[in-house]
Amino acid sequence: MSESKKSPSAKEQGRGRGLDESQPLATFALRSATSGHRLHPEEPHPYRTAFQRDRGRIVHSTAFRRLQYKTQVFVHLEADHYRNRLTHTLEGAQITRIIARQLGLNQDLAESVALAHDLGHTPFGHAGERVLAEAMLDHGGFDHNRQGLRVVDLLERRHPDYLGLNLCDETREGMLKHGSNWAHPVPIPDVSGQRSGEAQVADASDEIAYLNHDLDDALRAGILTLEMLIELPILGDLAQQAQGHHGEIPEEVRRTRMISEMIDILVTDLIAATRDRIVAEELDSPEAIRARTGKVVGFSPRVERARREIKSFLFERFYNHPKVALRTQEAEKVVKSLFDQFLAAPDHLPEGVRARFDETGRERAIADYVAGMTDRFAISEQTRLFGAEGLGNSL
Ligand code: MG
Repeated sequence: MSESKKSPSAKEQGRGRGLDESQPLATFALRSATSGHRLHPEEPHPYRTAFQRDRGRIVHSTAFRRLQYKTQVFVHLEADHYRNRLTHTLEGAQITRIIARQLGLNQDLAESVALAHDLGHTPFGHAGERVLAEAMLDHGGFDHNRQGLRVVDLLERRHPDYLGLNLCDETREGMLKHGSNWAHPVPIPDVSGQRSGEAQVADASDEIAYLNHDLDDALRAGILTLEMLIELPILGDLAQQAQGHHGEIPEEVRRTRMISEMIDILVTDLIAATRDRIVAEELDSPEAIRARTGKVVGFSPRVERARREIKSFLFERFYNHPKVALRTQEAEKVVKSLFDQFLAAPDHLPEGVRARFDETGRERAIADYVAGMTDRFAISEQTRLFGAEGLGNSL
């Protein structure tokens, strides 16, 4: 800290990069050369950093490809252009890169965390997660963040000598959230303090991505209208501007302009407010970011208020809309009946899942299997087990 008082470098770093493409890392960025610890030691790659290798492993994983058939909000894809978990992940990773680059954080690490952040998601989004959390209550617990760690540490098979992808601790740490503390069979990075700046950027970008693309999807689906947004701070002004373009431009372009400007406002504010904190507190190392009382990455108070209002608006008017809620209930029934059916009649399970019973317990092996399913595989398994009248047919 004392050094940065004499040197202008912390302030320089705090000002952001503008159009600078040279990409030097700030002193508070994590560096793969001095981090990058893995559960199973590996020789360094001749030209790829440890975090770049993690990104490659995540993108090439089976769990990553399955994200394309997992739901973001719509349980049933009514059309091919609504978001799914894969496109959500890519939009979040895109925003992550922009923010990490401007702040001088390690883009490769931040992007790896963003690409991995939803690997533990169940079929049908949070509906599936709620069912498995309930089913696993007396068997160790369940949530999608910790399940993501199970995916990258235990469930992917890519190497003859060990399970999982053998990712760096910094990437694994980025996938963990506070309050997710059920047993994990291999050592877990310490997340008692704040997580790295890179992990915080991936988190914030995830939220910027879903708030905006869910609004976009809800407007596209006609569940929300521009008129409904007028009362909201910031977004209301943008909606009003968009409405001002009477008839000259197609509805879709109006909506897209509004969403695009909203993302830009949130991203720009997040970069500026985070930078201000870094400069004011002279945060000059990754340790200084971890030692803070709260997250360093965050919006200004004004935009933070707007974010909260937009989020509660989405919960009220979209996520809990009868049309969405009905599908959510149906989806919960599908996941519940699959779990119960597999538990009662394990013969229906693939041999590989039954082979894990002794090691993990029956419930955990089934939870891992069901959590890994895509929406459409869950529905087809439902039909296979329960016949043509299966619950999945109503989705
Ligand atoms: Mg997400």
